[in-house]
Amino acid sequence: MEILDGRKISKIIQEEIREEVQEIRKAGKRPPHLVAILIGDNPASNTYVKNKMRSCEYVGFNSTKVHLSDNITEEELLHKVRIYNDDPGTDGILVQMPLPEHIHPHRITKEILPEMDADGIHPTNVGLVTLNFPGIISATPAGVLELIDRYDIETKGKHCVVVGRSRIVGRPMSILMSRGGKPGEATVTICHKYTPPEELKRICPQADILIVAVGKPGVITADMVKEGAAVIDVGITRVPDETKKSGFRLSGDVDFENVAPKTSFITPVPGGVGPMTVSMLLKNTLDAYKRRMDD
Ligand code: NAP
Repeated sequence: MEILDGRKISKIIQEEIREEVQEIRKAGKRPPHLVAILIGDNPASNTYVKNKMRSCEYVGFNSTKVHLSDNITEEELLHKVRIYNDDPGTDGILVQMPLPEHIHPHRITKEILPEMDADGIHPTNVGLVTLNFPGIISATPAGVLELIDRYDIETKGKHCVVVGRSRIVGRPMSILMSRGGKPGEATVTICHKYTPPEELKRICPQADILIVAVGKPGVITADMVKEGAAVIDVGITRVPDETKKSGFRLSGDVDFENVAPKTSFITPVPGGVGPMTVSMLLKNTLDAYKRRMDD
């Protein structure tokens, strides 16, 4: 069993980006600029945005954190997004999810210009990627692909089971694994909330590659994993833990302790997919910057 070390690979990717940004700066050009919009005081969202800003600084990007009150109206937030859409000095925009209940996430996602959509979740990008045209790939699935690629996990002709069908993880993941290219060319089965538990228990053990993005710790147990499978756990849930100073620990969807010995590769949580998402966000921003500068 080999651990898919997201922290290590993420660091390598950030080094690659950092070198490229150094070259850009040496040539006297402005560096890429990412704008992160954070609404309200959700502690997890705060941490995510802080990590993203820290990573921007590390690779040499310019970054702007726009922190707005959760009283903001949808129209005010859309207006903010438009300001950065129109800013020639901004290359990538992200709006940290989840949003307060009175704001419709889909409306906000659609407002960001597709070419500045650092998270790769605009419907235009999802559509382009689905059809295997150049487009910005959703950051978390892109991170999973990168892990699969850098650990040289064979996907062609393999059976990949994706558990979860969200717009930002499960759905794009299933499409990316089935489309042409490397990694890709897999036979894909997608499971969700309405997959009966006994069906989930029947389907998951057929997977050569099992990708889980549900947000329910322990949803995948050892009896659901084939001997030698590669298991990628996207789930991150804060579980109360009095032994921790913070009062919680992070848990994935997979029962890691009992599943890991059966696998060929497995991601830990934390330290697996999470750090990869941040690096792919940076990569998406760098690519957006390069396209803009080429125009
Ligand atoms: P989401 O939007 O809540 O989607 C969860 C998906 O799981 C839905 O498609 C849901 O089905 C399905 N589901 C729920 N219960 C199920 C069950 N018992 N069996 C099978 N499928 C079930 O969540 P998400 O945004 O995709 O995120 C999923 C997890 O990944 C969360 O823990 C989140 O924190 C984590 N995450 C991590 C990263 C990272 O960087 N590592 C990035 C994004 C998300 P329905 O569609 O039928 O409701």
